[in-house]
Amino acid sequence: MPKEEKKQESSADSPENAHEHDGGEHTHAHEHGHAQGTESERAHSEIGHMQGTESGHTHENKHTHGESEGTPTDDSKHEKEHSEYYSQEEILSFYEQAGKIAFSIREESKKLIMPGASYLDIAETIEKMISDAAGKPAFPVNVSVNEIAAHLTPEADCPLLLGERDMVKVDFGVHINGCIADVAYTIDLSEENGKQIDAAQNALSAAISSIRPGKKTGEIGKAIEDEIRKLGFKPIENLTGHMLQPYVLHAGPEIPNIAHDGGYEIREGDFFAIEPFASTGKGQVHETDQVEIFQILQAGNTRLRTSRQVLSFAAENFLTLPFAQRWLVKKFTSKLLLSASLKEMMNLGILYPYPVLSDEKGSLVSQAETTIVVEHDGARPLVKV
Ligand code: MN
Ligand code: MN
Repeated sequence: MPKEEKKQESSADSPENAHEHDGGEHTHAHEHGHAQGTESERAHSEIGHMQGTESGHTHENKHTHGESEGTPTDDSKHEKEHSEYYSQEEILSFYEQAGKIAFSIREESKKLIMPGASYLDIAETIEKMISDAAGKPAFPVNVSVNEIAAHLTPEADCPLLLGERDMVKVDFGVHINGCIADVAYTIDLSEENGKQIDAAQNALSAAISSIRPGKKTGEIGKAIEDEIRKLGFKPIENLTGHMLQPYVLHAGPEIPNIAHDGGYEIREGDFFAIEPFASTGKGQVHETDQVEIFQILQAGNTRLRTSRQVLSFAAENFLTLPFAQRWLVKKFTSKLLLSASLKEMMNLGILYPYPVLSDEKGSLVSQAETTIVVEHDGARPLVKV
């Protein structure tokens, strides 16, 4: 699932900023022992904190201004309540397990993609495959067709069926203890656009081969852009790959899909999802009115009782990861109240929305994605490309 680059976005509005604990530059986990374990712990403890109080004590308060306000005591108190510490080796093994599960589901699920197949059935079947394999969905399965590039997960009563000639992107994530393998593939049911699928795939391979510790992410963007343009398509410039951290899908640093000056300097031990998009349209997506995916951003006071119930349910079940409205309908049977409470929390900045993202009408978009770990001599895909 890609990260959308937003222009003129206030820094407190995006989940990656909400999870920035160090007030700016990304801190490298391997530089201080158990930092990644601590990250997932913090994710838990923040939400524990959120559930325990309705004071409106936000991430921003805690992490951006926290030190000057004397809140670290809060943090340490909550950290003590959680005893899950994982070593670097354990963290890596969780990522590898997630990668193995994602690999077999990627292959297995391709059979589902055929004309007449229901979007809902595809998403629910893949989500079931993930839980049957003892993983958890890291986010709702995205089934994005033709000019839709990303973030479309079917709603609970979605009637849509795949057409004879659709270009279908399936994007899903598996997590083990918060360690995420994020993968996507494209199937062109018309069987006439193989070159466009190759463009995204070649770009992904080029990106993987160009990664080394010390390289800047802008250079990886150049490798991606060159491959896509070589075959006559446009890279989508406002969608990016992203760093992964335990329980954080879109951690700060991005892998752009276009050439860029500078960027983040890649380090050994980093985990990244790389996801080139090749388009016949503008090479730029816009947000549509449809929102099916949300993520908890911060605590806050709500007017609706259902909002508090939804927030507490989501905090307990999805932590800091994205979830679908569809995942809530069994628990919250009034569709009207559920939508109203999601809307309320979106307006209050409690929930971060992931609107469906589309290139221009009539265009086609292809995507390829895998998750890699950076080793001393280059990137190792956790899900084989
Ligand atoms: Mn993805
Ligand atoms: Mn992704």
